[in-house]
Parts: sequence; C-alpha cells; structure tokens
Amino acid sequence: MIDEPTHPRIGVLAIQGDYAAHAEALAEAGAEPCAVRKPDELADLDGLILPGGESTTILRFLEKRRFFEVLEEFCACKPVFGTCAGAILLAREVRNPAQRSLGVLDAVVERNAYGRQIDSTILTAETALPGGPLEMVFIRAPRIVETGAGVQVLALRDGFPALVRQGAVLAATFHPELSADRRMHRLFVQTVTAARLK
Ligand code: GLN
Repeated sequence: MIDEPTHPRIGVLAIQGDYAAHAEALAEAGAEPCAVRKPDELADLDGLILPGGESTTILRFLEKRRFFEVLEEFCACKPVFGTCAGAILLAREVRNPAQRSLGVLDAVVERNAYGRQIDSTILTAETALPGGPLEMVFIRAPRIVETGAGVQVLALRDGFPALVRQGAVLAATFHPELSADRRMHRLFVQTVTAARLK
C-alpha cells in the first residue's frame, strides 16, 4: 500500500519578528507550519524558515541552551529559508558589524546597508522565478555583497542579490511574507518536498 502523501511540516523560528505571517504563507503554499521556540522542537521538521527581526537579538536567544548548535546541525541536512535577519543568520560572513552566523549560505552580508529605518521601501523587480516581476518589501535591509559560485541569484536590488538560492538554502534580503505573492513560499515548500523524497 502506498502511504497518503502528507503536507511537509515546516518550522518557523518564532523568537522575534513576523513569524505568524510566514506561518500563514506556508499554509497557503501547502505546508503544515509549526512555531519553533526551543531546540527540541526542530526534531521532526522537514524544513525551517528563519524570519526577519533583529539578527543580534535572535542570535542572543539562540546562544542559550545550545540552540545555535542544534540549528547548525539542522541546517546541514534540512532545507532552510532565511528572510532579512534570517538571511543574515544563514550567511558565511556578516559585516557591519561582524557577528556569528550559521554559515550555510556561501555569501557575505552587510547589515543595515541602506541606512536607517526610514530607508525601508517597497520595490518591484525582475526575477528569475516564473510569473513576472516580484514585489519586495525591504525593512532595514541587509545587502548581499558577495556570493560564491554555487549561489543562484533570483532577483536583484540595485545590482546586488536580493533573492538567492544555493541547493536547499533559500534567502531573501526582504520580507516575502508581507506581500501577497506566494511564489517564494511555494518554491521553499517544493524544495522541502523534494528533499523529503531523497
Ligand atoms: N536590520 C536587521 C538586522 O540587521 C534586519 C532587519 C529585518 O529583518 N527586517 O538584523
């Protein structure tokens, strides 16, 4: 007998930031979202979203109770999607200022690269994703200033990568959960579903 296909269970790191909007977007994209607040809650998840917020605050929380180390292990074998502060946490190197990161995305990220809060903006740009231009909501956004050869750039802001993919790692310097467009959450759910079948 063939098992009924189930929706992939995707966690949303719910320490700070707009995790509820990510959970809603995941549900719309066909996944079962789960809020993650403790390291042991990662145990039976198929993938994880690291939302925006303040990366230093999230990092400080993760450095308690070995959460950072458990997350490092999770990222090494399961798909992850980092948005804004989440993208900063996934990068190989963080600048302005330098801070610890998970290092699963071969990229150098500069924090708060567009000035202060007032610089937050909504832009529409071409994207390699099928379906036409992409709305991007930037809030005190970082900038990806370098990417390795294995990183595919899916959208740009001012010539710098704003949406990237490296295997099962997806990262956006903006907030896809704040737009109505579900292409990025769908892409992540597809990535998670494909990884589950391996
Ligand atoms: N400025 C934040 C940081 O450096 C990121 C902002 C966001 O996630 N919206 O961590």
